[in-house]
Order: sequence, then structure tokens, then C-alpha cells
Amino acid sequence: MIGVRLHGPRDLRVEKLSEPKIPGPGEVLVRVEAAGVCGSDLHTYLDAKIGDTALKAPLILGHEFAGTVEAVGELSPSVRVGEMVAVDPAQPCGSCELCRRGHPNLCTNLHFCGLYPDHGCFCERIVVPAKTCFPLPEGFDAETGAMLEPLGIALHAVDLSKAASGDSAAIIGAGPIGLLILQVARAAGLNPLFVVEQLPWRLSMVERFGGIPVDSARLDARERVMITTLGRGVDVVFEAAWADQTVQLAAELVRYGGKVVLVGIPRDDSLAVRHSTARRKGLTMLLSRRMKHTYPRAIKLVQEGRIDVKSLVTHRFPLGQTPAAFALNADYRDQVIKAMILPSQRPA
Ligand SMILES: [Zn+2]
Ligand SMILES: [Zn+2]
Repeated sequence: MIGVRLHGPRDLRVEKLSEPKIPGPGEVLVRVEAAGVCGSDLHTYLDAKIGDTALKAPLILGHEFAGTVEAVGELSPSVRVGEMVAVDPAQPCGSCELCRRGHPNLCTNLHFCGLYPDHGCFCERIVVPAKTCFPLPEGFDAETGAMLEPLGIALHAVDLSKAASGDSAAIIGAGPIGLLILQVARAAGLNPLFVVEQLPWRLSMVERFGGIPVDSARLDARERVMITTLGRGVDVVFEAAWADQTVQLAAELVRYGGKVVLVGIPRDDSLAVRHSTARRKGLTMLLSRRMKHTYPRAIKLVQEGRIDVKSLVTHRFPLGQTPAAFALNADYRDQVIKAMILPSQRPA
């Protein structure tokens, strides 16, 4: 089959690889139909590492995907051949202390598609556990299925904040995750919702989804939020960027006693905030890690039309053009929000 492997920083190669193994008990073979390029894939693409996980051999990236079930191993009664499924990339062990405490997102024996040493979904076919497959309802296409993963990340971040209807919030960064947090927070009744961003086309999406755009390229975001909230700040801030100083900005935008939820992954692997800002306000900082059993809720919210995932997909590429998709996305060219790889689409 064709797959795209990362060999080093900015070195993605389209290659002929061996077919995946025949699915064993509890496993299924999925033909990938849509695979989203995530900010975390871009980190790995640029640096050949994410956080302290470095690439030690060529790796297929990608963890936001949906496809058609081509073969089913024994003991996989939950899915059928021919069915379209979204795949949760996380495979928690189910038996470590964290799994048993109800935190599978923190599993210490976790396998994760596209995180070294496990290959991801920028390829034609992949074998995954049947229990990580969620059959898609009528009307869902593969792209929508692939978007359920970032939507799950947004749901988990908002869950973590325990924000109540009527609370105010700010979101830093209007990439796919920031825009999904905006929609989830809006559906949960948070208001007002400020969104700090500097790219103009992303700011116009903020407006479209009912947020208050704060253009940080042209004005002081802190001043803007403080004037509108009469110097109080907001109840909760979601940091969903990967820029410098955004954690400090989050601490400055939030009210005394408020909460900051960190979702973005900083490229330099450090968390920088002035101690006095955080201490004087008595802030609670929450670090959001992946998600829990969130796919069923994500499916329902999309099905009910309460969350629009489709509008975030701005670019589509066949599998062979995955390197071009990454280059475009990493350089923020052509008004990109979410780039989608469609492996079953043949190049024109
Ligand atoms: Zn992702
Ligand atoms: Zn576990």
C-alpha cells in the first residue's frame, strides 16, 4: 500500500509500504477515507519530535481519521465489514491505575496512532482495535468522521473547566481546536466568548461561530478584554495556541480565582507564566490531555447540528500530496484552517 512516512524534520516521503497484517481477534482493518492534519502532527513534522517523544525510525503520522471497515477479526462484534467508522486513535490499556480510576486519557501503557512507535493514518489501510471504532450515523461523511477527534479534544477541555452556563470565557488561538472549543463553549451556554487570534481569516470564523474576535495583531488583547469586562477578566481561559507568551496572556485575561485550561502544545516544551500573576489571582491551571470516552457525545452534537465541523475543512489533498499539505499548513499559507488528506481520492 501507499503510506507517507516522516524521516526527519520536514522530510515526509510518499512510499510503497507492505500491507498491514491480517486483523487478529478484536481487531479490524480500516481503509482510510479521510485523515486530518493536526497541530501536533505539525510539531512532529517540523522537529521530528513532540515534547520528549522523539522519532527513532521513519513513522506514519496522523490520528484524526475515519474510513470503511474492510475486514474484521474474530471477537469484533461491534463493527461490520463495509461500515464507515471514526477511529479513536487512543488505545488505553484498561487495567493500569489511571485507567481504573477513570482517566484512560492518562493511561501509562497507552498506544496512540501516529505517536512513535505506533504508526498513524496517513496511509491506505490500518489495523486498529474494534473497540476504538465508532460506526457513523447516516449522513456523516468520512471528513466529518475525522473531525470527531479534534471535537473530542475540545469537549474534554471544556469538561475539564467545569464552567457553568453564563460563565464568561476567552479562547487564545482560533485554529481548529480553538474554533471547536468556541462552538462547544457556546453550546454549553458560556457567554461572552472572546477569541484572541492574529490571522484575519481565522478571526472571521470566530465571528461566524458567535465569538467576539480580538485581533491581537492590531490591538492589546488584555486591554480589550479588560475594558469590556470592566477590569474583572473572564471566568475561564482556554489556551489553544502554540505561541510564545500565550500562557502568560491567559493568566492576565482570567479573573481572580478563575481557571486557565491549557490545550495547546508549546514548541519549546516549556510552560512560562509569571508566578506573581498566577499566585496573586489564586489561579487554577488545568492541563488538558487528550480525551475520555468522548466520541459518542461528539457524534451526537454533530448529528443534532449543534456543532459545525465541516466548515473548518478548508483544504483537501490526495494521499500522494501529503507533503504539500504539511508544508502549506506549517507555513499558514492560503488561509488554511484544517487540511484533510483523502487517501481514497485519486490524484486528478
Ligand atoms: Zn489531533
Ligand atoms: Zn491504562
